[in-house]
Amino acid sequence: KIADKKVVEWKYTTCGYCSTGCSIEVGLNAEGKGVAGRGVGDAPVNQGKLCIKGIFEYELFNSANRGKVPLMRDKVYRPFLESTWDKSLDFTAQEITRIQEKYGRDSFAIISTGQILTEEFYTLGKLARGVIGTNNYDGNTTLCMSSAVSGYKRSFGSDGPPGCYDDFDHTECLMAFGSNLPEQHPIIYWRLKMALEKRKFPVIVVDPRVTMFAQMADIHLPITPGTDVVLLNAMAHVILKEGLAEQIYIDAHTTGFEEFSKLVEQYDPVTASKICGIDEDTIRHVARVYAKAGAAMSIWTMGINQSTHGSDGVVGINSLNLITGNIGKPGGTSLSITGQCNAMGTREWSSCSGLPGYRALEKEKDREEIAKFWGIDASFFPEKRGMFMTDILPAIETGQIKGLWLIATNPMTSMPNTPRIRKTLEKLEFLVVQDAYSDVETTQYAHVYLPAALWGEKEGVFTNTERRVNLVRKVMEPHGDAKSDMWIFNQLAKRFEQGRKMRFPEKPSEVFDEMRELSKGRMLDYSGMDHDKIEKHRGLQWPCTEGAEAGSPRLYTDGVFQYPDGKAKLIPLPFIDNNERPDDDYPFWMNSGRVVEHFHTRTRTGKIGNMNKFSPTPYMEMNPDAAKKLGIEHMGYARLISRRGDAVVMVQLTQRVPPNMAFIPFHFHECVNRLTLGLLDPHSRQPAFKQCAVKIEPAVCQ
Ligand code: SF4
Repeated sequence: KIADKKVVEWKYTTCGYCSTGCSIEVGLNAEGKGVAGRGVGDAPVNQGKLCIKGIFEYELFNSANRGKVPLMRDKVYRPFLESTWDKSLDFTAQEITRIQEKYGRDSFAIISTGQILTEEFYTLGKLARGVIGTNNYDGNTTLCMSSAVSGYKRSFGSDGPPGCYDDFDHTECLMAFGSNLPEQHPIIYWRLKMALEKRKFPVIVVDPRVTMFAQMADIHLPITPGTDVVLLNAMAHVILKEGLAEQIYIDAHTTGFEEFSKLVEQYDPVTASKICGIDEDTIRHVARVYAKAGAAMSIWTMGINQSTHGSDGVVGINSLNLITGNIGKPGGTSLSITGQCNAMGTREWSSCSGLPGYRALEKEKDREEIAKFWGIDASFFPEKRGMFMTDILPAIETGQIKGLWLIATNPMTSMPNTPRIRKTLEKLEFLVVQDAYSDVETTQYAHVYLPAALWGEKEGVFTNTERRVNLVRKVMEPHGDAKSDMWIFNQLAKRFEQGRKMRFPEKPSEVFDEMRELSKGRMLDYSGMDHDKIEKHRGLQWPCTEGAEAGSPRLYTDGVFQYPDGKAKLIPLPFIDNNERPDDDYPFWMNSGRVVEHFHTRTRTGKIGNMNKFSPTPYMEMNPDAAKKLGIEHMGYARLISRRGDAVVMVQLTQRVPPNMAFIPFHFHECVNRLTLGLLDPHSRQPAFKQCAVKIEPAVCQ
């Protein structure tokens, strides 16, 4: 098939969808057009394999509705007029200045993404923190990963997933929480399957739904939504009661054991079973299997993170691994599987939650270090982080935020409670949307649209789920007059007096040099890497110290954590049920998730023929018994109604969901997020996308 496409050249790069970090080659024909894609055989991550999204990723270069030129208009809903880069950037800089002078520096907010290159994140951080100076700067990673970040920080004193994919080859037990690996991260799933072919070990999947992953598991725990903390407390209860804990590790490497054990004492399996819906014998069994394994690992994704207890869920998983001595050893780890291709890059370098290189605004030493490096006064920085993305949007409603810059993010589809988001965006005095596509739903409310280059049209690095820094080589020139995000940040910086005084390098490799310098000797150490070395190794895992030939597959191998005393914290987690739950008026749980063909809000995969052929439209999974009672038929239509709004979808009857649950993929506009509730986790401010209450009735679709 590929031979038919007359490929004359293959160009190396890294996939721009999910966080797995597959190395990919794009095949170009004689006209330089992307016509094929294939995996890179010697890449340690994917060993020549790609999932369906990666295989057809080359089609993005020629996809519809790519932004070619900047667009501007004076009022929302009037037609956009084509503009020039100079005019649109001048106007953007003027509006930022006007809003900040009139309402204060923090009245202009920035929300970025997990999609752009790490060098671009670093440059944006410099612009946002060092030039524009707003404290209300965050990433859309608050919608997917902030619970993992918060949980890692609370347990270990720092963010950073401690494990790697090779741990599948060493573990003796794998427990997955709220992660449908075969659909969300197919190549990580393939790695797991390869490990299982060589050596059998138990796989336990915790998920309210019988997902593809649950179907292959040895044990499936169909937990009541939002109660993972109760299950984790009960497992810890059994492990401590039965003397299965690694007491030597606990004494040497943790603090808080006394308070932790007092709390879990209350969560005996009988009590826990009534809350989490898993029978008491099964809780005891999985606790014993996990604790008795020579090495056991936990992975999780949005089923844990997107909850009002998301951060606590992560802490609970970390504590399970600390009391069983399963951190920092081959096959023993707490590995959050991130969502976006560069969610890790933004966590490490963007300054969204602080300052670059995992530095905190709250620490005077960190503020001074960065201010000196950037050549500005440290007093320009705030002393604590500002709003999360999920607080910025409500602050528009209350008038605190008047202007907003959205970079490769689409809250009209991705945020909970779409009807409310629509009204919120309409209230802005100024909205600039920077994206590769001019038709993203949020652009409806923009005053300025800036066309950005896509993945593969620019050069830099991504960090994947296992801390592997991978090289994204430029495959072709940007479409039309679209520009790399870094070019846009640099040009905007020049339009401010402070930006003209600071150094904004134009080459990604020069920006990378700044990152190397700023990370030397820290846990997040890039000093032993450069672009060529990264490509040669097909990715290097940080910390990679100066002069080192290779990176580090695992963190905390010496049992020394990032708290000042070097110890990890065991944190007691009392469970308070604060979610919306089904009741007489709204009797179904509504759950949301992914399908393998689509990525996020379909701004890209929605434009690729093969993805749409396989998954063209939103649908609901519903249990046949529940459907029969309501007179709803397979392939018929149903209306779901929540306290926020309603959505009509096609129905697929399946035993994958229990009788009191409906499941809808989250990718489609004006669908599941018309129903979801904006309740937030108190630590991570991440929304509980996966739990809300709905009623369901038959519908007719014409
Ligand atoms: Fe790309 Fe993720 Fe698929 Fe790999 S698994 S090809 S990184 S989308």
